[in-house]
Amino acid sequence: MSAVAEGEGKGEGLGTLAVHAGHDPAGHLGAAVPPLYQSATFVAPDTSTLEAINAGSRRGFVYSRIRNPTVLAAEQRLAALEGAESAVAFASGMAAVAGALAPFLTAGDEVVALPDLYGGTRRYLAEVLPRQGVAVRRAADGSAGAVGAALGRATRIILAETPTNPLVRVIDLAALAALARGAGAMLVVDGTLGSPMNQRPLALGADLVIHSVSKYLNGHGDVIGGAVLGSRALTRAVRSHQQAAGGIMEPFAAWLLLRGLATYPLRMARHNASGLAVARFLAAHPRVVRVHYPGLPDHPDHALARRQMQGFGGLVSFEAESAAAARRIVDAFRLFAIGPSIGGIESLCSQPGNTSHHALAEAERLAMGITPALVRLAVGIETTADLVADLARALEAA
Ligand SMILES: *Cc1c(COP(=O)(O)O)cnc(C)c1O
Repeated sequence: MSAVAEGEGKGEGLGTLAVHAGHDPAGHLGAAVPPLYQSATFVAPDTSTLEAINAGSRRGFVYSRIRNPTVLAAEQRLAALEGAESAVAFASGMAAVAGALAPFLTAGDEVVALPDLYGGTRRYLAEVLPRQGVAVRRAADGSAGAVGAALGRATRIILAETPTNPLVRVIDLAALAALARGAGAMLVVDGTLGSPMNQRPLALGADLVIHSVSKYLNGHGDVIGGAVLGSRALTRAVRSHQQAAGGIMEPFAAWLLLRGLATYPLRMARHNASGLAVARFLAAHPRVVRVHYPGLPDHPDHALARRQMQGFGGLVSFEAESAAAARRIVDAFRLFAIGPSIGGIESLCSQPGNTSHHALAEAERLAMGITPALVRLAVGIETTADLVADLARALEAA
């Protein structure tokens, strides 16, 4: 693993931050792990203390939509893992997407969106922003040339996602950051599928990073949550908008997230290793037509992925010989359960054509490279050999 992943050199390593960042036992009666402050309201001992807290001259808590100690601890741990100055936690990844965009847009502005975005994000761009007078321009593809061609004078935000789902394309973030700077726009990156151990969009010039923590960061499939991370100045605007709009993370979700984050580097290392092993196995299998995984040398973005990422993640897609074969393979799996989502401890599989990209027209799916024979695997943290054996058996049975 690289210096980023191991945290060699400057500061503490990712494993240390994952366990300790955001929590000081001395401030919590010696509790070794962050306690759950499941309280909506915090009372003040007297009026001058309340006034000092409100003025910001004294650290304290008043009401959990504004600030909560457990949520704050989770935010500090997320910021430490991402190498960001600050993080704002949200009720879901989609609340984080909205929370990263809305504070910076007014009627008449434009967003330039990359074509390969999460389905919920596509929906937000199609259904919500236009009603607020914000136009969305879709770049023809994820290249800097196509994004540059889509920029206009009213462009305020370039919205990118990398790696993409389900074809695991990698977007050149340094190139987009240069374009954004030149256009006086912000680069906002949904980094959910990479997650901070594999990539650092802020270090490549992104202004804000979005995570659905429902995926790798919490990792245990028991929390829906999101986060927006970046500089103190930008996240202050995000926080202010959130306090007004109300889409906060609940204390219990934050407590579960803190627990999930403690093992995030261990889990992610396993997702990376098993993802690569599964991709290599599939690439060598005669029944598999094509494998989409940036860790494979013949992936179109392999060189970029090696430059920009420290690991290639647990999302692997492949094309079976036909749509019928894809169905049979999926139905023959024992370990890979049929289900949406990714980044959890358990391995899952899906056919993007009937799940994540179901709402699109067939022609639109095909134009995006999503064929009816495509199978998406979310590689979990089970024993790698067992996952490969499940694939081998299902491919044989089909
Ligand atoms: C899952 C996901 C989201 C949405 O997150 P939720 O927590 O489900 O709201 C946004 N972006 C990406 C890339 C995702 O995978």
